[in-house]
Amino acid sequence: MPALLEVSTLRAGYGAGEVLHGIDFSVAAGGVTALLGANGAGKTTTLRAICGMLARSGEIRFDGARIDAVATEDVARRGIAHVPDGRGTFLDLTVEENLRLGAYVRSDRGVAADIARMCDLFPVLRQRFRAQAGTLSGGEQQMLAIARALVSRPKLLLLDEPSFGLAPLIVQQIFAILARVRADSGIGILLVEQNAALALDFADHACILESGRIALAGAAASIGADAQVRRVYLGY
Ligand code: ATP
Repeated sequence: MPALLEVSTLRAGYGAGEVLHGIDFSVAAGGVTALLGANGAGKTTTLRAICGMLARSGEIRFDGARIDAVATEDVARRGIAHVPDGRGTFLDLTVEENLRLGAYVRSDRGVAADIARMCDLFPVLRQRFRAQAGTLSGGEQQMLAIARALVSRPKLLLLDEPSFGLAPLIVQQIFAILARVRADSGIGILLVEQNAALALDFADHACILESGRIALAGAAASIGADAQVRRVYLGY
């Protein structure tokens, strides 16, 4: 599989403080790469750096072109959708308005059909279509954030801790829907998760970040099967 996203010697941080010290990893076309590691390892920073929200250096190739000097909005236009931690939904807007906002990077006429498709995938969004996003439960807000990202028709979805703070049953539902989206659309996914077992189950490939460096990378199945790796790096 050719790489959809290829990150080489990526450095990034906040002001003078470097958080990522030259990391390399990739996401295959249609593949899922999980980015794991302890709190503060730099997972969220990695997603922000890819989206151009932070000063960065190194090489980021997406869909055959360099994007490491591309502005955030243009990164989205090129087909990378970011579902940030904390979900990033507009709480004062309705579900419908949030979904429409997801399409701002598109200029074609298929938006209404795609919003309808999202409501098929996440039926609760159809039920709450005119409700303010702030009145949704945490799980519903996460579903809305993912649906809003998918409405932009991305080639790559960056997911920052989609399971955070949600009940196990809701997490299961969300991952079942993501599996369906992946199978139907061939989208690539870069998944940041604290829940390593869940992420390794869903991903093909995994990288473990430790203090801004890749400590280990490989097939998700073999990382998940290695008891020592699980104990040392993943805490389970
Ligand atoms: P977590 O699961 O806790 O979010 P993470 O692996 O996603 O962990 P990051 O959020 O990327 O970690 O944080 C990496 C480092 O960058 C931490 O030391 C954190 O304190 C620092 N950091 C994060 N955001 C900022 C910010 N806005 N300004 C300054 N430092 C930051």
